[in-house]
Amino acid sequence: MSTTELDLTAVPGIAAHALSIAAFTPSGCFDWPGRIAATVTLQGCPWKCAYCSNPEGHDPAAPGRLAWSEVRDQLEAHRGTVEAVVFGGGEPARQDGLVAAVREARSLGYAVGLHTMGAHPGRLASVLPELDWVSFDLKGTPEMYTRITGEDTAGYQAWASLELIQHSGVDYEVSFTVDPTVHTREDVFATVRHAIRGGFHAPVLEGPRARRASREYRAALGGRGLYDVIAHDDLPDLARR
Ligand code: SF4
Repeated sequence: MSTTELDLTAVPGIAAHALSIAAFTPSGCFDWPGRIAATVTLQGCPWKCAYCSNPEGHDPAAPGRLAWSEVRDQLEAHRGTVEAVVFGGGEPARQDGLVAAVREARSLGYAVGLHTMGAHPGRLASVLPELDWVSFDLKGTPEMYTRITGEDTAGYQAWASLELIQHSGVDYEVSFTVDPTVHTREDVFATVRHAIRGGFHAPVLEGPRARRASREYRAALGGRGLYDVIAHDDLPDLARR
């Protein structure tokens, strides 16, 4: 991968108060399995997955709902009871203030995780050295991304990002959202094969969380989930959520 192919426009010098923050959850144990973590949800995503559970978080131009100073105050207040902070979205790596916010969270004594789907490999590269853990949202083989995200370059960006994560040495998990309106059983097998042959961690399989997706998507889904695409005894070595 050459640097000219990457979006190398991250600006680590930008202060954390530049972040556009859509939501803050002070404590939970879902976003970083095994850890009690606060979650900072950042605004904006360049992709348009039909199953998105956060459609109101897409618009990168939408203003944030709370300031970093409010989040930081709450992080200060929860020191000792919450052990980690996870930055998610949308796509958190797209925001210039992320590196500074991660450093501030670390300076407060928190371990820091990131949820990313990999749309901005260059920006991701600048924040990876600051992280303790990454959850990577995998959507298929590179060829499957356009029909899921609506973006022609998404497959290249995502798998380039996964490669950066792997080479960074940061602890990571890969979660593969199996969409019954898009993926066939063979697509699931092909994606898992592609990941394992690439030397990446085996994906954790999960179905779409469609409760807040569009009415059209929920109608197309018709209540189907992971086991409407694969059998219960398929891929027995892989974890599921
Ligand atoms: S990449 Fe994630 S946040 Fe963006 S549209 Fe898809 S599911 Fe939603």
